[in-house]
Amino acid sequence: MRDRPKPDWYQWWMTSADRTSTASVTSPVAPGSSPGDLFQLLLDGTPRTRAELAQLTGLARSTIAARVEALMESGLISAVGEATSSGGRPPSRFAFDPSARAVLAVDLGAMHAVVAITDLAGRVLLRRRTDLAIASGPTTVLDTVVAEARQLLEVLQLTAGDLAGVGIGLPGPVEHTSGRPANPPIMPGWHGFDVPSYIRRSFDVTVLVDNDVNIMALGEQRMHWPSHDNLLFIKVSTGIGAGIIGNGQLQRGALGAAGDLGHVRVGRGGDVLCRCGNVGCLEALAGAPAIAAGLTGTNAHGSDDLVKLAEAGDVATIAALRQAGRDLGEVLATCVSLLNPSVIVLGGALSSAGDHVLAGAREVVYARSLPLATSQLTIARALSSTDASSDDAGVIGASMMVTQHVLSAAAIEDLLVPRTREPVTP
Ligand SMILES: [Zn+2]
Repeated sequence: MRDRPKPDWYQWWMTSADRTSTASVTSPVAPGSSPGDLFQLLLDGTPRTRAELAQLTGLARSTIAARVEALMESGLISAVGEATSSGGRPPSRFAFDPSARAVLAVDLGAMHAVVAITDLAGRVLLRRRTDLAIASGPTTVLDTVVAEARQLLEVLQLTAGDLAGVGIGLPGPVEHTSGRPANPPIMPGWHGFDVPSYIRRSFDVTVLVDNDVNIMALGEQRMHWPSHDNLLFIKVSTGIGAGIIGNGQLQRGALGAAGDLGHVRVGRGGDVLCRCGNVGCLEALAGAPAIAAGLTGTNAHGSDDLVKLAEAGDVATIAALRQAGRDLGEVLATCVSLLNPSVIVLGGALSSAGDHVLAGAREVVYARSLPLATSQLTIARALSSTDASSDDAGVIGASMMVTQHVLSAAAIEDLLVPRTREPVTP
């Protein structure tokens, strides 16, 4: 008997399935009562026989046999070894096969693109990072992404037909239901652009779009904090934003603007003018350009310069980063009171400037929050920003956003019975 270990993403999948964000997903029904539900049982990767599935679901053996056959034909499950038998031919076991399809996962930043192909379990099969200015506009950027994706598929000897879906993270606010950016400040020409339709001209599959902080929150939780259902991911870079995971689900808010912390007023803000037109915003004090502008005698402009100066031990830069951390901590203390997270993860370029921002944030959060809220609270640097796979949180999050949707019971139903239901659209 050959049992596959339960994959670590299973717990994450079961607890944080973001099924409510998609209109096509139906309310939960009795486990195993449809082929899609039967597939949900097999998603844990544990190989099971038809008899075991019949026992688990209470369905007739003949019904199970027909559904297993349909799922086998789709390639989403495969036979994985044989069970022990009391005599005669041993019964086959079946399990979810994450290699059945691939996902195109894209993380777009202000000045870079990470394009990756993953399997259905979010494992990165191949990735490439390129310099690409988001300000060059949606058609230029998305054409480059499509060209990169085709090259990666070719290297992997896959075709567009192998894709289950496309997930894209953008460095600005996105209306998640339509996949259209909404007044993104650093993305000229992108406002209202129909990203899913444009991508579907090349890859005719489900295309889901979200802001980069949300997908980084998903990826970071999936990779490093799978047992934490209440996590705040903070990106500290040119801008400052948060991805909120509450009760295992990404919280986007009514219009997708949840977590936009950069424009919360902070005590030290005074009448400092922010690019949003308001005064005293967190970003106008603790964003990388603001910190750099406050340093005299350096040529620092952005995150990269600040990281270099901090690494070189420049005392003024270190002090400025620590103060930025305190300003951030002031806003985070409010978040802690409101949301009671068990983990706050600091990511983004400035989080890798030593632990100075982290130290400042900790200082204020622990001083200003009530003991119950901080007794189990961890404030940590994003783990995915400390190793060679530093770009992977974004693409893994983008991949998970897609698989949560395309592997849901309703989507599997549509896949298996395409002519009796409306096609799944995000
Ligand atoms: Zn502002």
